[in-house]
Amino acid sequence: MEHITPPTSVNEPVRTIPVFGEYDVVVMGGGPAGLAAATSAAKNGASVLLIERYGFLGGMGTAAGVTNFCGLHANIYGEIKQVVHGVADDLLNRMTALDGLNPPHLIFGKIHAQAYDMPAYKCAADAMLLDAGVQILFHALGAGITVAEDGRIEALLLETKSGRVAVRAGIFIDCSGDADLAYWAGAAYEKGSGPGQMLYPTMMFRVGNVDAKEAGQAWLTIPKIMAEAERSGAYRFPRQGATVRPQQHPYEWRVNVTQLASPDGLATDGTDARALSAGEIEGRRQIVDYLRFLRNEVPGFQATYVLDIATQLGIRETRRIVGEYMLTGEDVLNCARFDDSIGVNGWPLEKHVAGNVVWEWPPIPQSCGYNQLPYRMILPRRTERASARNLLVAGRCASMTHDGQSAARVTGACFVMGEAAGVAAVLALRDRVSVYDVNISALQQILTAQGVFLG
Ligand SMILES: Cc1cc2nc3c(=O)[nH]c(=O)nc-3n(C[C@H](O)[C@H](O)[C@H](O)COP(=O)(O)OP(=O)(O)OC[C@H]3O[C@@H](n4cnc5c(N)ncnc54)[C@H](O)[C@@H]3O)c2cc1C
Repeated sequence: MEHITPPTSVNEPVRTIPVFGEYDVVVMGGGPAGLAAATSAAKNGASVLLIERYGFLGGMGTAAGVTNFCGLHANIYGEIKQVVHGVADDLLNRMTALDGLNPPHLIFGKIHAQAYDMPAYKCAADAMLLDAGVQILFHALGAGITVAEDGRIEALLLETKSGRVAVRAGIFIDCSGDADLAYWAGAAYEKGSGPGQMLYPTMMFRVGNVDAKEAGQAWLTIPKIMAEAERSGAYRFPRQGATVRPQQHPYEWRVNVTQLASPDGLATDGTDARALSAGEIEGRRQIVDYLRFLRNEVPGFQATYVLDIATQLGIRETRRIVGEYMLTGEDVLNCARFDDSIGVNGWPLEKHVAGNVVWEWPPIPQSCGYNQLPYRMILPRRTERASARNLLVAGRCASMTHDGQSAARVTGACFVMGEAAGVAAVLALRDRVSVYDVNISALQQILTAQGVFLG
């Protein structure tokens, strides 16, 4: 039989796409950055559409089962205080009203984090956005853009159950976590550290039926039990230590222990379809293995079971844009200050490296414990390409170095960046200027009026 080489590509026929709607602001991605961006833009009078590929908001906080807010607090000269407010307060109050938010808990004796139940996050976020007047389109996957004759982004193309549609806007805010929209617009970006190493992903899960009394403060003892179990040869863990902590109901605990790598040992790449598939499967395999350890070795967990496995693999880092300013690890450790502050980050460097998690802190109690976040970190770098003029990028894919992102990727800083992006978009439209010429003092005044702490 004649051997025919199969084609490696096909041509997609040109097609005309119906316009779903036209808005002042379109936000892509409903994680903490996206929901803050959409809420604050709408509260400032813009017509806003938020599109999200899943059927709920929260991003990694829900889809990846994170169930814990970090970065809302800072250790200020030895005293732990909440430093992220604004839209975050609205969301936290709504989650408290739904009985879905734990009181803050202490981590390493240095900082607070706050666990929550996913249903409360999802429901509170829906209500907050709708009350602000945001239109939400779920089950809509951003798939590309069109560019207008003047070079600005004209439309975002979406794949939906009703077919492919286009949404037009004055300003687009990329809160996809992976900088998908910025990538399509040709924005400069980085992936990983110098050697191309990204923070490792984790498949989160929760266990139920824990005997809370017997388990006690198991989060303090589990890392030691793991080390002993590994020495015995009966278990091999993907990384040292684990975060295993109770949720609102003490018989439910979240487990952050898996670590996903590609066959070459590098972190699984959340923008690679094949790698993502392999990571989902390997993540679940690691969970099954860890359940065996919990049941057999940890007091209080003898009758536990897997309550749920996150909807998707938890991705900490993929593309980070190279913007007008890149927040660095040094900025975090030295509590950097910026004239164009849009809020603060109080979370330390939290590096998910091969087989471990490495923490680095600003001096405690000698420092104010937080760094300011500059407006320039949500601006793609100014280039000849005009399409960046109506694009802002907020959240874990904003402009940060690998080390800087290991800190300011957490939820608190993502709320801050998102809230500022929403206001900046409205100011750019109001003043008919590009995102590069937004009036910074007007931005800071509005943010302060919204309750944001600028540091
Ligand atoms: C395993 C793990 C544990 C973590 N633990 C903590 C913790 O304890 N506390 C903490 O504060 N932070 C934690 N983080 C970090 C934090 O959850 C994330 O960094 C944060 O959620 C990032 O917010 P974001 O809005 O930038 O992006 P994401 O949360 O990633 O949200 C992006 C959203 O965009 C959507 N999206 C992406 N692409 C498209 C597209 N093309 N079209 C449509 N929609 C799209 C996604 O579905 C998602 O909803 C953890 C992260 C991981 C992975």
